[in-house]
Amino acid sequence: MISIIGAGPAGLYSSYLLSGKGYEVNVFDQKKKIGLPVQCTGIVTSKIKEIIPLEKNIIKNRIRKIELHSKNNSQSLSLKEPDLVLDREKFDQYLAEIAKKNGAKIHLEKKFIKKEKNTILIKDLKKNKIESFRTDFLIGADGPLSPIYNILNQNTEKNYYKGIQVRAKGSFDKDTFHVYLGSLCPNFFAWIVPENESIARIGLASQKNQISLLNEFKKKLEIKNDSIIETQAGLIPIYNPKIKTNKDNIYLIGDAASQIKSTTGGGIVQGLTAARCLSNAIADKKDYQKEWKKQLGKDLWIHLMLRKYLNRFKDKDYDKLVDMLKNDKLKNILETQSRDVPSSFMLKIILAEPGLLSFASRLFI
Ligand SMILES: Cc1cc2nc3c(=O)[nH]c(=O)nc-3n(C[C@H](O)[C@H](O)[C@H](O)COP(=O)(O)OP(=O)(O)OC[C@H]3O[C@@H](n4cnc5c(N)ncnc54)[C@H](O)[C@@H]3O)c2cc1C
Repeated sequence: MISIIGAGPAGLYSSYLLSGKGYEVNVFDQKKKIGLPVQCTGIVTSKIKEIIPLEKNIIKNRIRKIELHSKNNSQSLSLKEPDLVLDREKFDQYLAEIAKKNGAKIHLEKKFIKKEKNTILIKDLKKNKIESFRTDFLIGADGPLSPIYNILNQNTEKNYYKGIQVRAKGSFDKDTFHVYLGSLCPNFFAWIVPENESIARIGLASQKNQISLLNEFKKKLEIKNDSIIETQAGLIPIYNPKIKTNKDNIYLIGDAASQIKSTTGGGIVQGLTAARCLSNAIADKKDYQKEWKKQLGKDLWIHLMLRKYLNRFKDKDYDKLVDMLKNDKLKNILETQSRDVPSSFMLKIILAEPGLLSFASRLFI
């Protein structure tokens, strides 16, 4: 009997895979409805299609161009394989449907309270009643503020970015994802991700002042309050390789395990990849932590180092970096390689643009 806490992408995909392997799986979530509220921009690389086939109605848009803006420069990249903009509500619901078809049971408005030996205590939020469920394996897919994280990691710090975005009406280039770098959003970036020609997800993430930074960004883009359809916000955990993700029969996955790219805050593809590692590790009695680190560890670490490096950049450094994208060799690598796996092209970009090494001093200043 497997209990999964959290019906987000990592928990639902794990439940689909494990029920497909014949396990009895219960998924518990405190939410009323799967996929809501949306707290995500939903942009993923085409790598997601190697993991799971997506129905057409889940893909809101295909992004063919990334335009990078520093304070005084702009350059664009034409993606060989378009990025996909997901409808996160429909995506999560689709994962729930395929999991249920495989036999997984999904229980909503049920909040995990604690684990006691081979049972877990769950609060039924509708009946205001505590129930217990026998559990051989407990999987914490319970997001950034995971209570199961606390069972395994009492002394390991978890840090976050605070993401905030609006869905706004306006006139947008449907093909282009805009990224704004530098003092406009220190230590991360601001974005415009179009859903279509007339609606875009406009936001940023930061460790502090995210609301005032977003207000400034909206002002710069001349986004008026009456064009805003909704505001969405959520925490983005910063990858920490020291987090313990498995002990005895307890496992952590997805945002609960901080399996997030620190450069972009993306975690959907990483959570799904880790779900595969987890289901195989349970079925084949392998070491889950070793398995997911084999698949994701090196790249998540590179993203973390790049983020630390970029966080020392000033506007003039970003101007110089964006200017380097005029280099056709560098451009070609960035246009053709998946940013989910930087380990496959880091060396190539340094060889293509040795000028990148001129930023090395930023590691120390
Ligand atoms: C503003 C923002 C923008 C983002 N944009 C992108 C993007 O463009 N691309 C991308 O790849 N990623 C993006 N991310 C990250 C992405 O949203 C997450 O990586 C992804 O949702 C993680 O999935 P998960 O299943 O691990 O956790 P979640 O989706 O957070 O699901 C966790 C679930 O656990 C449930 N839960 C928590 N505690 C309990 C409890 N005690 N009992 C029962 N249930 C519980 C919650 O209700 C929730 O449903 C963004 C995040 C934010 C905040």
